[in-house]
Order: sequence, then structure tokens, then C-alpha cells
Amino acid sequence: MNVTTIESEVRTYCRNWPVEFERAAGSRMFDRDGRAYLDFFAGASALNYGHNHPALKRALISYLEQDGVTHSLDMLTVAKQEFLTEFAARVLGPRQLDYRVQFPGPTGTNAVEAALKLARKVTGRQSVVAFTGGFHGMSLGSLAVTGNASKRGGAGVPLGHTWRIPYDGFAGGEVSGLKLLDSMLSDSSSGMDLPAAVIVETVQGEGGVNVAGPVWLADLAELCRRRGILLIVDDIQMGCGRTGSFFSFESAGITPDIVCLSKSISGYGLPMALTLFRTELDVWQPGEHNGTFRGNNPAFVTATAALREFWADSTLEKQTAERGLRFEEVLGELAAQYPEHVSELRGRGLVWGLAFREPDLARQVAATAFAAGLLVETAGSNDEVVKLLPPLTSTDEELAEGLGILRESVRSV
Ligand code: PLP
Repeated sequence: MNVTTIESEVRTYCRNWPVEFERAAGSRMFDRDGRAYLDFFAGASALNYGHNHPALKRALISYLEQDGVTHSLDMLTVAKQEFLTEFAARVLGPRQLDYRVQFPGPTGTNAVEAALKLARKVTGRQSVVAFTGGFHGMSLGSLAVTGNASKRGGAGVPLGHTWRIPYDGFAGGEVSGLKLLDSMLSDSSSGMDLPAAVIVETVQGEGGVNVAGPVWLADLAELCRRRGILLIVDDIQMGCGRTGSFFSFESAGITPDIVCLSKSISGYGLPMALTLFRTELDVWQPGEHNGTFRGNNPAFVTATAALREFWADSTLEKQTAERGLRFEEVLGELAAQYPEHVSELRGRGLVWGLAFREPDLARQVAATAFAAGLLVETAGSNDEVVKLLPPLTSTDEELAEGLGILRESVRSV
């Protein structure tokens, strides 16, 4: 019998890779015929440490061999406590961040829902400011603050209480979006109620690697502080080292009120999410934010192992920042070589986007790269951007190999 999955019917873009993946190790995935693919998609940044990292795998197998608790709802477990201890010691403490840690549910959208709900409860206000091009998840609350109108349309009900402001803080860009927000807040005839929160990505991943400059982010944080609006940074895709620091907002010198993390936090591609918030915002009542899969202990185990392996010092951060400079140089040359195809290069750390003049070109480049053994996805409002998200643990040779395949793919379209 021929079985068709819903997923294969609705796949419409480059993730429609026509093979069955069977194994994955480090920066490579292998299909059932044993063909290797260099993975510059990395689970949309859920695999910053690559596939099946040996240290994380060992920790997981050892935990399971000892019959460690797997599912535990919101109970306190040794695995959860160990994660919290390491997270405080290696992430929050060194950055002097005094956040409470909430396990809001298994995935990124759960972290965003909890953040929005908390901001509304703390302030007693309803609306939230979000940015054009932002992506925050597919459940109703997170969808309401997502920029992509066609995705929002899928909700089938009106999604209200959102003010959408231009995301125009690209390095060197104008600050008109923030000026607009400030003036709307001052102008009683604008109809804008005082929002509970602003939600922002420092680099819009799904939106096409749009990079907000540090000054724009600092201005946004200052505006929020001055107006008494909570600042939520959605670091689900850009956190866990992707941009060259554990949190992507560190280089802007800002401290958000609330931070959403997921994707690479478990380090092993296991579902796990965190909502972090300033201690004084903790207004949750017991049982007020429930969810069956908040206690994914195998994920806590691999997350703890990842913190021990990669966040004992700043080696990974420095390496990622340096490699970012190399990517900028190599991709900059590529963009300059094909100005008729490539309109812009954007990125920092190990997230880069090559924007093409036509979405078809981006799709062709991704398809050609796939045929040559490189996995890259397209992003942006029209899928016009080829997005590069290699594992941070890739070797220099693997990074050079991937960039070489990309160069050839651009050349051949
Ligand atoms: N926020 C950002 C910035 C994301 O990139 C994503 C997913 O791509 C989400 C939220 C939603 O996360 P999830 O798909 O795990 O619900």
C-alpha cells in the first residue's frame, strides 16, 4: 500500500529533500543509501552541537541504562535539578543575569505563549508590539505576534491585540520603526493602548536573517524601560551560541525582562524549552501554566551535558565569532561576484543569509546544493534567502566544504 503523509503533501519548499534520512553524526546526515549530506540546516538551529555529539550521547545512554526518570510533568527530578544548577553556574551567573527559569512546555511556541501570558498578567494589559518579519510559533498567541500574514491566516480566527511595527534596525539602518512606536505611544489619537510587551528577535531567522544592529536594540530596550513596557527577546533560534555568544542580545548590552529559549537548549534535538524572566515578574500561581511534557528528563540530561561540554569557558563563543568573520569575507566575495543574482548578504556568528533577487534563484541554489550534498534551507517573506546554519561544532574543513558547494551552486544557476 502506498502511504502518503500529510507532511509530504504540504511541503512546498527546499525541505522537500527527496530522500529518507537514516543516520546522522556530527555535521553530516546520511540517507538510506549511505549518501552523506553536509548539514548547514542543523534542525533550524536545534542542532548547534551537531548530530549525536559523543559526550551528549554518552550522558543520555548512561542515564537510560540507570533507569533514570524519563517523564515527570513538573516534579522535581535529579536531572532537572542538575540542569538548573549548571545553567545557573555556566550561563546565568557569569552573565550576571538574575532570571527565574520556567519549563513552559516542550517546544519554542510554548516558551512564547508563557512569555506573552506572563507579560499580560504582570501588567494587566492586553496588547503586544511585534515586528514585521518576526516568527514566534504556530499556536494562537505566538501566531498573533508572527509577521507572516499567510501563516497567521491559517489560524481561522481573528488574532488580535498585536501592534506590528517595521523591523528596520538592520545594522546601519534607520530607526524609524522605533520612532513610529514612540510617537504612536505619545499620540492619544493613534488609538494605541499601552502594550504589555514588545517581542523581538535580534536576528530574524525565519524572516530571512534580518540582523538588528546593537544600537537599535539598545534604543528599543531604552524605549521599553522608559514607557514601562516589558521587553521579550525570542532567542529560540539565535540563542545557545548561534550568534557568537550564549544569548544573542549580549553584544547589544541589554537585559530583556523575559527571554524565550528552545531549539538547541537540549543540545541533542530533544524537545525542551525555557522561559526566563526577572524574579520580580514571578506572578504565576501554582498550576496556572500547565502542560504534560514539561518534564523531559532525557532532554535535561543532554542539556546539562552540553552546558558542561561547551559552556565551561568562552572557547565556543570566540570560535563562532571568528568563524563569522570568515563567513562574512567568503560570502561577501561570492555576493560581489554575482551581483545580478545576489542582492544582499546578512548575518553574524554562524547564521548567514544570502538574499537573491528572485525567490526562484534561492530555491534553485538550495536544490543544486542538495544535489551536491549540502543541506541549506530558504527563508524570508518570499523564500528569497538561502539561510546557512552550520553546526557550531563543524570543523574548519567542513565549513570550507559547505561554502565551496554553495559557491558552485550559485555559479551554476
Ligand atoms: N521563535 C523563533 C524565533 C523560531 O525560530 C521558532 C521556530 O522556528 C519558534 C519561535 C517556534 O518554535 P517551535 O517550532 O519549536 O514551536
